[in-house]
Amino acid sequence: MNLFINDLFWTLQGEGLHAGRRALFVRMPYCNLACSWCDTTFNTYRKVSVDELKAFAMSEPARFAVVTGGEPMMHRHTPVVVEVLKDLGFYVAAETNGTFAAPCDFDFVTCSPKRDSEYFIHPDLSISEIKYVVDDEFDFSILDRHANDAARKSLSPEFGAFESNIVRIMAYLQKNPEWRLSLQTHKWIGIP
Ligand code: SF4
Repeated sequence: MNLFINDLFWTLQGEGLHAGRRALFVRMPYCNLACSWCDTTFNTYRKVSVDELKAFAMSEPARFAVVTGGEPMMHRHTPVVVEVLKDLGFYVAAETNGTFAAPCDFDFVTCSPKRDSEYFIHPDLSISEIKYVVDDEFDFSILDRHANDAARKSLSPEFGAFESNIVRIMAYLQKNPEWRLSLQTHKWIGIP
């Protein structure tokens, strides 16, 4: 079977609870949103056979994978990718914009709601970590809806507007310590 995959590479997870871990990144093609700061060219794919995916996944000793996009929850090949990786012993995390329910069982789900969808979160999405990118127009009042959420909560300053927004985040954390700062460390060290 051939899988449609936008990109497949080894790197470090740059942000969130698993920041710093060596990770297999699987980018699924296509997204339903068009965020202004998006830095991913997701509208292309190449065909990757299941055997090719397995061989690449086993080419390093780490057993941590991040399935992302684009928007991974909307692609029909995502459940196959997850099944293949889990069968190889991987802990499989997802990064999603939150607008779809998960089509399969992930070990960890990071949801990063977007202004493009008016920060919509699908009611059937089970979330391990909620993460917002804070840019100059970010309205912190949207965070009030998470007051009773059990998910880990984090805020990330937009990399291209870091200086103004780190100040706003620090002020928010002072009064709302259940939220944490999450830096996009992969961008700071210049890796994908
Ligand atoms: S949801 Fe993510 S992948 Fe989709 S356009 Fe926004 S930043 Fe890009």
